[in-house]
Amino acid sequence: MHCFLCISEVTFGLLGEMATEHHLRREIIRCGALLHTSGFIAATDGNLSVRLDDKRVLVTPTGMSKGMMKTSDLVIVDMEGRKLKGRREVTSEIGMHLLIYRMRPDVNAVVHAHPRTATGFAAAGIALNQPLVCEVVIGLGQIPLAPYGTPGTPELAETLKPLIPDFDAILMANHGVVTYGTDLQSAYMKMETVEHFAQITLVTHLLGKQQPLDVAHLEKLLAVRSRYMGDVTSAARMPAFFNDHPADDLVEEPVGESKSFHSIRHRPGSGFRRGN
Ligand SMILES: [Zn+2]
Repeated sequence: MHCFLCISEVTFGLLGEMATEHHLRREIIRCGALLHTSGFIAATDGNLSVRLDDKRVLVTPTGMSKGMMKTSDLVIVDMEGRKLKGRREVTSEIGMHLLIYRMRPDVNAVVHAHPRTATGFAAAGIALNQPLVCEVVIGLGQIPLAPYGTPGTPELAETLKPLIPDFDAILMANHGVVTYGTDLQSAYMKMETVEHFAQITLVTHLLGKQQPLDVAHLEKLLAVRSRYMGDVTSAARMPAFFNDHPADDLVEEPVGESKSFHSIRHRPGSGFRRGN
């Protein structure tokens, strides 16, 4: 009943203790069930993994509901994706997980799902990169949109590559969402935040008006983020801090067919990499 608290207490790196494999297996089962009951996945969608050590990753199998797994269904692979332990076959998206672990030494858990609203934005080609909600600015930053890549192929991981170093949550065009963090709790919570923020953003679309936070407010929020979260290196930066002259680089442009929906985004050449 206290798994999230327990895993926080043994967070990799932070307290210098390795959580037990058994505990991590139970955590993956728990988070898989949460993804399922939250409606973030359907049928056999989605996959989760945890870094066991610098040579092994514990990951969900292919071809079964992530809401109905047992601890014995999980698979252990090496950093090349070769199976070391487990009777089932590893998820076809293992390449994406391993790429994130290779590129982000601070990351110890990865969650991939297809939450309805966020995936709707990904299918519409719209990034969740507007500073509309102060909590999201502090906790997660912007959520960029990666181009489409065929699932289960190296192409998918390649589309994410440019974004992995600077973001902790990525929309995958016409597919879903991937989030990652220092532990499974962190990665799962980010998935919840992405979907919640997507729903709020959708409401602003329905209302026909968006009122993004301005640069001055973003600066104050970043100061708050530093105060509460310390020297954050993994959370994505927000638009105002993407170049030397952020205020000059914010422009208003219409998005999609809607005349009433406007977004703030950077001009080409700025650090605002994808989306819209
Ligand atoms: Zn998927």
